[in-house]
Amino acid sequence: MTPLGRLLRYAQPHRSRIALAATYSVLNKLFDLAPPLLIGLAVDTVVEQETSFLGSVGVTDPSAQLTVIAILTVIVWGLESLFEYLFQVGWRNLAQTLQHELRLDAYRHIQRLGMGWYAERSTGGLLAILNDDVNQLERFLDGGANDLIQVATTCLTVGAVFFWVSPTVAMLAVLPVPVILIGSFRFQSLIAPRYAAVRQRAAEVSGQLANNLSGIETIKAFVAEEREVGRIEGLSDDYRTANRLAIRLSSAFSPLIRMVIVVGFTATLLVGGWLALAGTIAVGSYSVLVFLTQRLLWPLTKIGQTFDLYQRAMASTSRILDLLDTPITEADGAVVAPRQAATIRFEALQFAYPGRDPILHDVDIEVPAGKTVAVVGPTGAGKSSLVRLLLRLYDPQQGRVTLGGTDLRDLQLGSLRGAMGLVSQHVFLFDGTVLDNLRYGAPSATREEVEAAARAAEAHDFIEALPQGYDTPIGERGQKLSGGQRQRLALARALLPDPPILVLDEATSAVDNETEAAIQRSLAKATVGRTSLVIAHRLSTVRNADHIVVLNAGRVVEQGPHDDLLALGGTYARLWAVQTGSLAA
Ligand code: ADP
Repeated sequence: MTPLGRLLRYAQPHRSRIALAATYSVLNKLFDLAPPLLIGLAVDTVVEQETSFLGSVGVTDPSAQLTVIAILTVIVWGLESLFEYLFQVGWRNLAQTLQHELRLDAYRHIQRLGMGWYAERSTGGLLAILNDDVNQLERFLDGGANDLIQVATTCLTVGAVFFWVSPTVAMLAVLPVPVILIGSFRFQSLIAPRYAAVRQRAAEVSGQLANNLSGIETIKAFVAEEREVGRIEGLSDDYRTANRLAIRLSSAFSPLIRMVIVVGFTATLLVGGWLALAGTIAVGSYSVLVFLTQRLLWPLTKIGQTFDLYQRAMASTSRILDLLDTPITEADGAVVAPRQAATIRFEALQFAYPGRDPILHDVDIEVPAGKTVAVVGPTGAGKSSLVRLLLRLYDPQQGRVTLGGTDLRDLQLGSLRGAMGLVSQHVFLFDGTVLDNLRYGAPSATREEVEAAARAAEAHDFIEALPQGYDTPIGERGQKLSGGQRQRLALARALLPDPPILVLDEATSAVDNETEAAIQRSLAKATVGRTSLVIAHRLSTVRNADHIVVLNAGRVVEQGPHDDLLALGGTYARLWAVQTGSLAA
């Protein structure tokens, strides 16, 4: 199906609005083309008087004829204005509605796509679709659709009038049409790469500016301000140069085309004049022809540009609709996840990221209901991947993960994720207040519940000490807080919905000793009655776990309680010795 067809199918619910806007466009154009006819009538009246066209339809007095023309003129202009207002409102609101719906639908859709899909795409590329492509369609609907309809209306109406009045002159008036059409398409193909270069340069400038603004601390620390100004200057200069090339060409278009139009105009003027002198056509008809020639030819100069807008809009439409057609890979199950602590089991698990070699092999781990199991091991062992499988951000190729005996794939995704409180190493906080962030997983929690969760995470005291307490804005990604504070907020946020399962993924690996101690104290209480999976790099965090699993290169190499593992004298004992300083690294 063509992109236009797909778009029309998507816009099906707005069919009547599209038809109405198109009708207004046609009516506006018809009334816009009427004034030259009225001028013809006026000339006819002044020259022919009683024998004029209006005279022949019964208005014999020339002054009365002029009055009729004056009244008609006011009516025609009034209607032209009315329909212009109506088509503008119609198309522009339609553009707004469609872009709003497309953006929302696309965002809603991609939110449900799996992480494997995201890994193959860049944030910038997705943003370009959600913003630029959607805007491109808006631009076309704002003006381009109306332009196309009106040019077609003009050609048909003016063509009909011309051939009715004088086919000879009509032939001459359309002489420049091929030249104008070829010229404007050629112009478009020349200017398009120059505008593309301009946009490319603009993107480079804004990219560099964004990069510099986010790295301003580093720039200051290395006293690199002047160097950065130089870099921006260079990019900005490239942008200016690219624009110059485009300006030179685009400014020449109208003057050149005018010289082509003058050919048609002069031909009408001369030949029509001769015919009028010879009495073959009426003087009034002559003036209609002369005025209409311009009305016919000028709009054609915009065709190339409008067509380009159309093609861009269609390319954008394809990209957006392709996104909407991407199959949802996160298949949802039907079983509601238990709301009480249940056993988690990784069974004979084998897992590979899409297109990669397997990174987990024959992994069997059990986290009994209400117990705390820790997974430790070197970086890259596959610990975080276990968490992703548990959250069903990915599904295993072999084996399965179960919660309360049910395969995760059979569970309702929302209830599964809702049953888990997650604290990860890279805490993501949203721009907003402390309170907004704490309530992220439980929007209806009362102030008392929020404070209780904050106390449990030992975050209450530092929050109270902030300038506006719980109402303090924390900045983009929580940058107004320290790393340890962010981590404690993340723990409180995870605890607030009272999840039966707690998952900590390297939650203490990047924090100071004091925060680690605080989190450990919190955990000692928070894990009671909850099934907890704790991934850790620092062994001090996990020594009190009920059971410890040592993962190495995607395989379980040892497991047992802390003391047993130490006594075993294997990988765990060695890691412990290194981390407690009894063995040099
Ligand atoms: P750990 O948490 O133990 O440090 P991970 O589970 O993060 O280990 O990673 C295990 C392996 O999987 C590593 O070799 C890593 O490079 C690879 N890996 C992690 N995430 C991805 C991904 N999104 N795509 C491809 N490979 C990945």
